Amino acid sequence: MHFIALREETFCHWNRLAWSRLRPYLIVMTSAPQKNRPDMAFFDNSYARLPPQFFAAQVPTQVAEPWLIKLNEPLAEELGLDVDSLRRDGAAIFSGNLVPEGAEPLSMAYAGHQFGHFVPLLGDGRAILLGEVIDRNGNRRDIQLKGAGQTSFSRRGDGRAALGPVLREYIVSEAMYALGIPATRALAAVLTGEGVRREEVLPGAVFTRVAASHIRVGTFQYLAATGDEEGTKALADYVIERHYPELRTAENPYLALYEAVCDRQAALIARWLQVGFIHGVMNTDNMTISGETIDFGPCAFVDTYDPMTVFSSIDQHGRYAYANQPGIGQWNLARLGEALLPLLDADRDKAIEHANAIIKDYGQRFHAYWLQGMRDKIGLASAEDGDLELIQSLLALMQAESADFTLTFRRLSYLAGNDTAETAFASTFREPASTAEWLARWRDRLARDPRVPTERAVAMKQVNPAFIPRNHRVEQAIEAAVEDGDFSLFEALLTVLSKPYEEQPGFAAYMEPPKPEERVLQTFCGT
Ligand code: AMP
Ligand code: MG
Repeated sequence: MHFIALREETFCHWNRLAWSRLRPYLIVMTSAPQKNRPDMAFFDNSYARLPPQFFAAQVPTQVAEPWLIKLNEPLAEELGLDVDSLRRDGAAIFSGNLVPEGAEPLSMAYAGHQFGHFVPLLGDGRAILLGEVIDRNGNRRDIQLKGAGQTSFSRRGDGRAALGPVLREYIVSEAMYALGIPATRALAAVLTGEGVRREEVLPGAVFTRVAASHIRVGTFQYLAATGDEEGTKALADYVIERHYPELRTAENPYLALYEAVCDRQAALIARWLQVGFIHGVMNTDNMTISGETIDFGPCAFVDTYDPMTVFSSIDQHGRYAYANQPGIGQWNLARLGEALLPLLDADRDKAIEHANAIIKDYGQRFHAYWLQGMRDKIGLASAEDGDLELIQSLLALMQAESADFTLTFRRLSYLAGNDTAETAFASTFREPASTAEWLARWRDRLARDPRVPTERAVAMKQVNPAFIPRNHRVEQAIEAAVEDGDFSLFEALLTVLSKPYEEQPGFAAYMEPPKPEERVLQTFCGT
């Protein structure tokens, strides 16, 4: 990909250019007096009250010239924040220059299996949790700055983030939300006015994300690895209170917790597959306990359907390929089971037996979620034994005929309501005539399904998006922002992706797969 080909001197040039254009809008509050700190919300920082080994208090490092690229106003409203004051002070707050009243900034400790290798202490090396707020729906949400400077977990890292990955996470996490898939949200993006040194010097940015919580499989692994059974129990109790309160009264709440986390992850990963999403770095530190998608690094969406698709430059062996994701999910959850063992049963053999039964069940859970979702995608409201085979043969045909994943299902939705849409559907396949046999079988099956065609088409359009964050569009938006300080493509993408299931005639071009010369073959990590 053409991701930010800036040399240091070009960056400085870009910097001068962009800054001279932006300067009138800058809100520089680097030396804001602490007593004037705005009351951002009613922080209630429950994580900061957990045992001290769970985190390290950490004040963000000031940046030179913060400039607010984007504030997600609807989300700010939902969180109960004062949008007017954020328009005014957002650059300072979301860069870390101004710590709002009530925040207790901290970095969380966690471990993780990275590409299968265990690292006993990772932690937030560049993320700082400002605190928690209770949103308008009564849900507790974390507000975290990513790229806010070094922390005690930074190791050799600079604690910073580059603009490109910040925009990617902004776009893709909001797109996932609009698609109806659990994901962390984007609250703001800020330019720091400083360069970050990667292979070249890139414009620095800070991303503000909102999560149900940032507790990961790796958070449990961290406590388990230090032999801290009391801490593991405290974390499990906290997680039950925060994310699974209905399990408080279960016969064995910890076993029920393990089962519930497996269930949410099975449901989540099935949803990923159904929109062609590839996370890219499914390390155990990038898997939440809440069931939200987190850490959008080199993530990308499949265009032409191939189950072994990999985009991430660091995933050289395809560990996190599209079709490997359910299996990797299970592998990660097995590591969670190991960390929870002391809580599952006082008798270790029995604990292992229980955990094994649950992890084995994950396979069936995943399959059931996936099959149901795929039935929805091809428009079936009823279930028959042959459905799995019907779905698999469509996928096999798509693969053999290099069909675009998203267009195939969207056009199948049109075809469900209107027979004249067959040419458009078939043209998605390299050899259009190859679809005839499958379509005949599909129509036979539909004849035994209770729904009428118009209703079916409507239902299918609600699960088969017209718009996904296609990689070439994401790259174009990043490139324009990084090279020219032009955020118009970023804004346009956010607009179109906010309604992925609706026809948006003005944005028809955003439905199209990349032309051969636009194809993105590799995406790079956020670091
Ligand atoms: P990630 O690949 O973003 O999930 O990060 C894996 C680990 O590396 C986490 O512990 C991060 O906090 C840490 N990390 C990533 N980038 C940086 C950075 N620029 N500075 C310090 N730590 C980092
Ligand atoms: Mg991570």
